[in-house]
Amino acid sequence: MFVQAGYRYRVYPTDEQAMMLLNQMGICRWVWNEAHALRQRVWHTEGRSVGYAQLCRHLTVARSESEWLRAGSVDCQQQAIRELCAAYGRTFTARMTTGRKVPLPGPRRKRGSGWKTVRYTRNGYRLDPDGGLLLAGVKGGIIVRWSRGLPSHPTGVSVTLDAAGRWHASLCVEVKETPLSPTGRTVGVDLGVKAALALSDGAVIENPRHLRRRERALARSQRTLARACKGSKNRAKAKMKVARCHAQVRDARRDWQHKATTALVRENDVICVEDLNVKGMSATAKGTIEQPGRNVAQKAGLNRAVLDVGFGTIRSQLVYKASLYGRDLRVVDRWLPSSKTCSGCGHARTKLALSERTYTCDRCGLVLHRDINAALNILAAGLAESQNACGEHVRPRPPRRPGQRSMKQETRRATAGNPFSKEGEEVNSGHSKRSASIGRIAAARQAG
Ligand SMILES: [Zn+2]
Repeated sequence: MFVQAGYRYRVYPTDEQAMMLLNQMGICRWVWNEAHALRQRVWHTEGRSVGYAQLCRHLTVARSESEWLRAGSVDCQQQAIRELCAAYGRTFTARMTTGRKVPLPGPRRKRGSGWKTVRYTRNGYRLDPDGGLLLAGVKGGIIVRWSRGLPSHPTGVSVTLDAAGRWHASLCVEVKETPLSPTGRTVGVDLGVKAALALSDGAVIENPRHLRRRERALARSQRTLARACKGSKNRAKAKMKVARCHAQVRDARRDWQHKATTALVRENDVICVEDLNVKGMSATAKGTIEQPGRNVAQKAGLNRAVLDVGFGTIRSQLVYKASLYGRDLRVVDRWLPSSKTCSGCGHARTKLALSERTYTCDRCGLVLHRDINAALNILAAGLAESQNACGEHVRPRPPRRPGQRSMKQETRRATAGNPFSKEGEEVNSGHSKRSASIGRIAAARQAG
């Protein structure tokens, strides 16, 4: 079996090539916007939908009339139309499945960097024997830093320019599934804000908080940007500096996430995780004017921390890595009271504040790190669900209270607007805190 994957490489176009690439991107943006406008117009006047084939015929006519369009590669222009149709398709599917009025795709605006990508199918690119990337509409081979080998011949390439001024080529390849040899280990994973990952075997990985680590540098560069005159060269420079700062945070986070998920998949046969609602967890608590929300600043800080760990990315990485390496990923129901239940006797507490880092059971006297207790419950639920072949939930699902937040825990008292401000020292009881960083998980395992 093969899995589709994108292999991303840093590319270094010359100034001339960069100009040509940007030109291609601009044309693709124009094609997207024209096709978008046409679709909307025909829908509103004639009440029918214009599909990909028809839009491409319009493109052919437009190309025959305009030299500017002909200068660009037809391949990526058709690709822009394909993307537009796919975006419409996704919207309609989302509307069907959720019943919500999901907004339609909009035009690609010049502001922002969303349009600074250009996609080529098999016809639009070639790999140079001496390692360069040849693209239609771009003169000469673009230098690629081949940081790793290609597993198969790519079926498509997309070239992007990010806000920090870096060019990347993402090559669409097929990776063969390579099941890893069984380790005989199963693990429950609790994703959290204080401890990013808590494992049922007692390992705790603290939240590295990449964003907060660079908060000061980011604030400084943003101040400089705010002071710079509009349209000045210094402003452009300051803008780049802010973007570089954000890119650093993003890169560090992604690196950390990949290391964490790879370690989990390598070391365990069965991985049980919770089905977290990231969108709800990071939703604003502002409320409406009639019904203002409570603890808004505090929830905002919590949201930042939730997004800084990147639960969603960790989940999707676990999904594809589990299928790539033949591991069993089990997703446990979102409403499982994993934090409040005792992993020893099953007794459920009614209240458990987020500041309580240790779980103590009133019934059996169990004392355990809060998140490890939750991870043990997730593991138990994940293993139980597989025994129930009918797909029924083994544990009863508690009804959702009206107005209940997706964050299943009680909100913490706001501490001077900063949700990260010092809260008592972490209590280590009933377990050994084996490692603080992922790199040390394996070493810690061998030691103990
Ligand atoms: Zn108990």
